Amino acid sequence: MLKVNLFFQTVWLSTAITGTVRTDRAHPQSIAVIGAGIGGSSSAYFLRQHFGRGVRIDVFESETVGGRLATASINGQDYETGGSTIHPFNLHMKEFAQMLGLQELKLPDDVQAVYDGEEFVFEDSDWFIINIIKLVWRYGFDYLRMKMWVESFLHRFMKVYQFQSGGYSFTTMEKLLYGVGGDEFVRMIKYSIDEALQNVGISQRFLNEIVTPILRLSSGQSANINALVGTLSLLQADSDLWRVEGGNKLVCSGLLYSAKVNLIKGKVTSIHTKRRPQRNGELVHLYEVNYTEGSDPGYSLYDIVILAAPMYPGKSQVHFHDIPQPISFYSGHYQQKVVTLVAGCLNASYFGQHGSGPFRPTTITTTAHSDGSILGASVSVPIKPVPGDQPPTCARVWKVLSPEPLAEGELSRLFPSPEAVHESHWFAHPSYSSSDEIPPFVLHDHLYHLNAMEWAASTMEMMAISAKNAALLAHHRWYQQLEKVDQDILPQGQKVEL
Ligand SMILES: Cc1cc2nc3c(=O)[nH]c(=O)nc-3n(C[C@H](O)[C@H](O)[C@H](O)COP(=O)(O)OP(=O)(O)OC[C@H]3O[C@@H](n4cnc5c(N)ncnc54)[C@H](O)[C@@H]3O)c2cc1C
Repeated sequence: MLKVNLFFQTVWLSTAITGTVRTDRAHPQSIAVIGAGIGGSSSAYFLRQHFGRGVRIDVFESETVGGRLATASINGQDYETGGSTIHPFNLHMKEFAQMLGLQELKLPDDVQAVYDGEEFVFEDSDWFIINIIKLVWRYGFDYLRMKMWVESFLHRFMKVYQFQSGGYSFTTMEKLLYGVGGDEFVRMIKYSIDEALQNVGISQRFLNEIVTPILRLSSGQSANINALVGTLSLLQADSDLWRVEGGNKLVCSGLLYSAKVNLIKGKVTSIHTKRRPQRNGELVHLYEVNYTEGSDPGYSLYDIVILAAPMYPGKSQVHFHDIPQPISFYSGHYQQKVVTLVAGCLNASYFGQHGSGPFRPTTITTTAHSDGSILGASVSVPIKPVPGDQPPTCARVWKVLSPEPLAEGELSRLFPSPEAVHESHWFAHPSYSSSDEIPPFVLHDHLYHLNAMEWAASTMEMMAISAKNAALLAHHRWYQQLEKVDQDILPQGQKVEL
């Protein structure tokens, strides 16, 4: 189990960071943030920290605050249907929860089983020591090797917080990765997790039966995804995971409130560049953001715009005018994921289990050899703790993940008599490969795109890191403090306080 290393406890995530605002350029009048998911709401929060109270911050949201952080109600309880688990080393998410007075809800350890289309090829024991023996018996020391790989990555990745607390920012993901972990980290988005783990001696059997099922559950893909997203996905199988009591989306509404933004319930349709003369005759460059609020069109002018929504053909399309932007980068597509919440008794024989004893697994992952209609299933924990003992397996709510909606026949094979069913459809994250170009964070002088980060890896914490990076970039580029942009070495003696 991972323990917070003393070294990383020295990383200081407090607010006062980038130094004082220089006075030789007036502060911006207004900033637009497009999207109120965790990326948009955390960037509004960081923008307020760095630009101060004198700036108007408008946040546009076309659907619901929280975006891919959402809950649904089934059998009288609410459950997460989008982004759900947070790693103990996700320091921004931790800081947000603490600052907003939200409680961390620790997730119970699960009993995992891996289904290969016919039977469980691996099933956790209730006893830790028996588990280790079973793992060593079947896979040698592969589990240990994987753990060491993932932990070594995590410890080195924590340097990103040192850069950010020192006020450093990056214009591309490659430069950020280079700063944090040198060439080795840049290579992680160029080769697959499969290759990375084989290079440290992990067997094909372990990759097929343990690694791929975890990746299928978290990313819907196999071990051909890039090594960065692969490693972050393996962390989601760690212990000590948590989520926010009452729902992760509370972080988004809390951050927007704390940043004192104007929330505009509107869909941004286009962004144009404009020049406006000032009193002294100087021309200023502004962005005109056009939107529809209900059926009413509107527009406003901004000095800085942060685009905090995915951009790909057919979804969230914002048209750019007079901006020579690299939109051709966004030719990839997002993967559909269907989350089906089912209250009812899981049919053990669906997974080749015909014994009369109780069904023990609480998380079922699937190998690439299973028929592919489901990626996995797990017992879902309500967003508010329910007093009393865990209900018996049959009385629980299961969360089933699949690439397509479950056909009626499939659902009734899994749950012969479901009490209630709720289905959520997501364009969950980019469809990853190890040869993806990662788009830049800077689209134009003062126009930034947070979700470029997603093409390397998409998690709540990665979006918060991207939000902090965008707020710092926007600040430094506005005030021309370029010495803190794209620096790949932390200066000796860089003060990173507790
Ligand atoms: C099923 C599922 C499970 C996941 N599990 C985990 C997990 O366990 N742990 C984890 O860390 N991450 C997980 N993730 C990933 C995580 O949820 C995302 O990385 C994160 O929520 C993305 O946040 P975002 O703010 O970048 O984007 P979004 O949440 O998509 O927010 C973008 C917002 O912009 C709005 N918008 C779009 N276009 C416009 C427009 N033109 N005008 C105005 N508003 C617009 C949208 O309505 C949306 O609200 C999961 C995701 C899914 C779908």
